[in-house]
Amino acid sequence: MRRKQGLLIVCDGLGDRPIGRLNGDTPLEHASTPNLDRLVSQGMVGNVYPYKPGVRVGTDVGHLLILGYDTETYYYGRGPIEAASAGIDLKPGDVAFRGNFATVDGDRRIIDRRAGRITEGTAELARALNGMTLEHGVIVLAKELTSHRLAVVFRGAGLSASVKDTDPGATSEGNPWQDPSPLDATPEAARTAVLVREFSIKASNILSNHPVNLERKKRGSLPANFILLRGPGMMGPLPKLDERFPLKPACVAGDKTILGITRMAGFDTFTDPRFTGEADTWLQGKLEKALQLLHTDYDWVLVHVKAPDLAGHDHKPEGKVEIIERLDEAMGFLLKEIDLSRCYVGFTADHSTPCEVGDHSGDPVPTCIAGADVRKDGINRTGERFFRSGSLQNLSARDIFMIQMDLMGRTEKYGA
Ligand SMILES: [Zn+2]
Repeated sequence: MRRKQGLLIVCDGLGDRPIGRLNGDTPLEHASTPNLDRLVSQGMVGNVYPYKPGVRVGTDVGHLLILGYDTETYYYGRGPIEAASAGIDLKPGDVAFRGNFATVDGDRRIIDRRAGRITEGTAELARALNGMTLEHGVIVLAKELTSHRLAVVFRGAGLSASVKDTDPGATSEGNPWQDPSPLDATPEAARTAVLVREFSIKASNILSNHPVNLERKKRGSLPANFILLRGPGMMGPLPKLDERFPLKPACVAGDKTILGITRMAGFDTFTDPRFTGEADTWLQGKLEKALQLLHTDYDWVLVHVKAPDLAGHDHKPEGKVEIIERLDEAMGFLLKEIDLSRCYVGFTADHSTPCEVGDHSGDPVPTCIAGADVRKDGINRTGERFFRSGSLQNLSARDIFMIQMDLMGRTEKYGA
């Protein structure tokens, strides 16, 4: 069977809406992208729904869909993904949470949900919580993530993920933490809610007296003396990509969540301190790494770029234009090095993050799949408006996944 390789660049939050300051263009339409335009002319394009029209998806769900998963079956919540990002191997029955190091006062009122955006000492703080024993012999696993974030896992029998977040959300400063409560009537949910309370208080006592926090107080910084929990989930079965299709996948990224999701899906993951997950990330380095992996034995390489999403959340259309132009420059390098008759090259996004909205939207995302033998749509400009007449228009992220698997010769025939 004829088999080819594929390279997919996922530009997080790339899709956008017309912006007055950009003469009514989207950032992608506005940016100067000679290299992307050349790629686009070599393939199929369209605006693709991450899930369904008008449905806003998170980065986690958006990526599972890009990897072809049915998220109604295989999405287990954000907690398990954060645990995977932290390198914790979940066992069946574990309940995983996203955690924040936070600051509370003597009455456990929240002063800062992010403990002054703490960046240093979180490894020691997490280590002080890791291995804590709760009632019924439940063990706590805790591991730091980027800045104020950490993964928290409860391991033991009879647990449930149906418990309310203790994190009261963005506008909560000055309010008390939310008392843990069960979200259904099962004894497991009731028991887990009690354990969340026990953990929260024990953790607060340990953290309050930890040398890292005593030192922070001395310096006048907010102590990280509480853990707020949200996004509980219980991990279930997730077939690895190479169990679904005959290929060896790799992911190149700086963002820990993406590294976690792709690792869960069976990708080998590659990162570098210069892949920052921010606007200053080393784009050419990512594409060089992808090329190197394609020259070894990887068949499908996914490269993730976080910065367009950050610009969208920060309401910075010019910043989004700039990162797109920097990506275009790196694409110039890639297109010189890659053979489109052996490897398909595409780009897409996990969702749109329109700069004027400052959050994810349900708009479809600009997408391209190029290659020597891909049917040509005859479009040679890059942007949502130019892609409307392309053959991928109105398809879904899972359709785009299947089209890539088919082009690469990895699918089974339907029928005889
Ligand atoms: Zn995203």
